[in-house]
Amino acid sequence: MIAAIPEKPYGIRNCYYHTVGKPCAFCVLKKKKVNLSPKELVTAYEKVAANRGGEPQVLLTGGNSRRRDRGLSKYVPYVKALRSRFKEAKIAVEAAPPKDASALDALIEAGMDTFAANIEFFSADCRDRLLPGKSEIAIDEYRKSFEYCQKVGVKTFSALIAGPENKRDTLNGVEFLARIGVPTNLICLRPFPGSNLEDYPRVNPARFLDVSQEAVRIMQERGVMEGLACTAGCGSCGACAMEMNLYRTTHAPGIQSTAPIKGCS
Ligand code: SF4
Repeated sequence: MIAAIPEKPYGIRNCYYHTVGKPCAFCVLKKKKVNLSPKELVTAYEKVAANRGGEPQVLLTGGNSRRRDRGLSKYVPYVKALRSRFKEAKIAVEAAPPKDASALDALIEAGMDTFAANIEFFSADCRDRLLPGKSEIAIDEYRKSFEYCQKVGVKTFSALIAGPENKRDTLNGVEFLARIGVPTNLICLRPFPGSNLEDYPRVNPARFLDVSQEAVRIMQERGVMEGLACTAGCGSCGACAMEMNLYRTTHAPGIQSTAPIKGCS
């Protein structure tokens, strides 16, 4: 279950980088009023759980702000509401790292299960070119937030996008993340209509499989694949990435592609 969280309940969902004309080149997020409150998120969760006969995983996301917390505070009432009603809920927040990692405290105390901060690309050239606004966030800021979360047992992952940068740069990103204990959610570029990259060539599936296999090898060597399998949100899903499915074929053969892996706490 994915929810785009507005700045305030029933308010506007937006991203500062769109406001200043520097959106990420693949992004199609539009400024929009979102009629959602924490109570309604809980109601939606209950409905999904009843329909599918089990609690869903939750991913909360919704654009950055220019504030020092880069917009993290808006997620707090939603995480609190879900956690107070569902003690075992798997709640991921997918957002930028704050300028000061202690801004994560409120989310950690509220019961966030997984923090996903996506570096997207690893080479400075690609980051500057395709993340004209978001590249203001230094890679080291991601590291600090990940380490902050890891110290208190909050799981982490980071998405990297295969396609626009060369394979070596993408794998250097996987290696960097794995070294600091963070698994990569490797997705391929999807040039959505309306984004600045809408005419970008589709990524060759064979090339994506090749880089995914290499990424899995790196993550297994560094012992972070199990960590990815246990995250909430996109990291453990496998619907639009290959690494979790490659992992499932060797560690949990026969189970449905997006099913959770057993053994996670
Ligand atoms: S940070 Fe980039 S991808 Fe995320 S909402 Fe803003 S412009 Fe879109």
